[in-house]
Amino acid sequence: YTSMKTVIISNRLPVKIIEENNEYTFIPSEGGLATGLGDVYKNGNSIWVGWPGIEVPEDRQQEVVEKLAALNLYPVFLTQDEINLYYEGFSNEVLWPVFHYLVTYAHYEQSYWDCYRSVNDKFAQTTLKLLNKNDRIWIQDYQLLLLPCILRTQQPFATIGFFQHIPFPSYEIFRLIPWRKELLNGLIGADLIGFHTYDDVRHFISTATRLLPVNSTANVLSKGDRQIVVEAFPMGIDFDKFSGLTTTQEVKKEIDYFKSGKNEVKFILSIDRLDYSKGILERLRALELLLQHHPEYIGKIELYMIVVPSRDSVPQYRDLKEQIDQLVGNINAKYRSINWIPINYFYRSFPIEVLSALYATADICLVTPMRDGMNLVSKEYIASRNQNDGVLILSEMAGASKELTDALIVNPNNLGDIMEAILVALKMPLDEQQRRMKAMRSIVEKFNVKHWVQNFILRLNEVKDTQKSLLT
Ligand code: UDP
Repeated sequence: YTSMKTVIISNRLPVKIIEENNEYTFIPSEGGLATGLGDVYKNGNSIWVGWPGIEVPEDRQQEVVEKLAALNLYPVFLTQDEINLYYEGFSNEVLWPVFHYLVTYAHYEQSYWDCYRSVNDKFAQTTLKLLNKNDRIWIQDYQLLLLPCILRTQQPFATIGFFQHIPFPSYEIFRLIPWRKELLNGLIGADLIGFHTYDDVRHFISTATRLLPVNSTANVLSKGDRQIVVEAFPMGIDFDKFSGLTTTQEVKKEIDYFKSGKNEVKFILSIDRLDYSKGILERLRALELLLQHHPEYIGKIELYMIVVPSRDSVPQYRDLKEQIDQLVGNINAKYRSINWIPINYFYRSFPIEVLSALYATADICLVTPMRDGMNLVSKEYIASRNQNDGVLILSEMAGASKELTDALIVNPNNLGDIMEAILVALKMPLDEQQRRMKAMRSIVEKFNVKHWVQNFILRLNEVKDTQKSLLT
C-alpha cells in the first residue's frame, strides 16, 4: 500500500493560525489524530483537508493555499454565515445535543440543514480535486456525515473510511431528527464506519436497519451489492508523551509549585471543555454533598476545576457558564476559611506542561460526564501517573469506562454515588491504588493513538480487499 496516499478530512485542519501585520503564519498543532498519524503524515504520504479556522478574505485565499500546501494541508474556505449555520447551527445545535441524548437542546432549523448539506458538498469539491484513483479517504466526525455518500457518488470505487468521535445514540433518540434518513444515507457511502464503543456500533446498525432499506448480518450492513463494515475502534492517546512530560524540568517545577505547603491536603482534579454533556454542575453538587455530610474533610480536600472556554456564542453554553460560576461561588463562600478554599476554579485553557503537572499531582481525577464519546482526559491522567498511585473516578456514560474498568465507575446522575466514590478514593490504600493504576496504565499504553490509527487503516484496507475479491 505504500504508493497509496491517505486523504484525511476533518472539519478543522490541525493548525494554529497567527495573523500579524497582515501576514498569516500557520503552526501545525499536535492533536491526537495528527500524532497518531505520525510519520505517515509527515512523510507526505497523507494529506489533510479541512477548514483553516478563520474567515479568509477572497483576495488572500491563494496565499493561504500556498502556505498550507507546504504542510500537506488543503483548506476549505468557509464564510461566517457557513460557520454560523453549518458548524454552530447544525453540528453543534442539532447533532451534538441529540447524539449526547440532550434532545431538548436541539434546534431543528431548516436553514441549518440546508447549509450543512452545501458545506459537506464544498468539502467534497475540494477533496475531489486532490484525489487519485487509489487513494484512501478517511473522514472524521459528525460535521461531515454526508461526505461519504457525496464522494461515493462521484467515485464509486473509492476507499472511504469514516470515524465518529462522539456517541451514536439509540434509535429512539436518533429518529427524532427531521433529516434522519438523509444523514444515514450520507454515512453509508463509507466502506468502513468506526465508533469508539461496541454500544455505538449496535445503535448505528439497529438505527440503519430500521430506517433504511439495508440488511445486516453481525456487524456488516448490505445495501444492494455494497457492503459496509461497522466496528468499534476505541481511540487512545499519546501515552509516551504524557508519561514522559512529567519528568521534564519545566513540569517538575510546576509540580513542586502545586505541592508546596499542601502536604495535608488531598487534591482532586477535574478538566473539561465547557459543555452540558460533561456533568460539571452535578460534580460540584456531589462535592457540596460531601462537605455537608462529611465535615471532617473541610480543610482536607481541594478541587482544582479547569473549564476550558468553548462555543460561548451558543446561549446554552453561556447559561451553563453562569450556573457554574454561581455554584462555585456559593460553595466557596459557604465552606472556605481564611487560608483554605474548597474549589480552585479556572475558566481558561492551560499549556500542556501545566496540565501534565496537574495530572501528576492530583490524588484523584474526577471525570463524570453525562455522556462522552470517549473522554481523553481520563486516559491522560492514567498516562501521567508514573508512580502508579492516584485514583480515577469515571462516569459509566463515558466511552473510556468500557476499557478503564479498574476506575471507580459511577452513575453521574447519582450524586450520592459520586460522593461515595470520592470517599472510597480518599481512603483507598496505596497497594490497591497501584494495582488498579497498573492495570489501567498497561491498557492506555498498549492501545495508544498510533495503535488506533494503524488499526483503522488496516481494517479499511482489509475491507476493501474483501470487496475486491468478492467482485472477481
Ligand atoms: N485540554 C487542552 N487544554 C486545556 C485543557 C484540556 O488542550 O487547557 C485537552 C485535554 O488534554 C484533552 C482534550 O482537551 O486532550 C479534551 O478531550 P476530551 O476527549 O476529554 O473531551 P472533548 O473536549 O473532546 O469533548
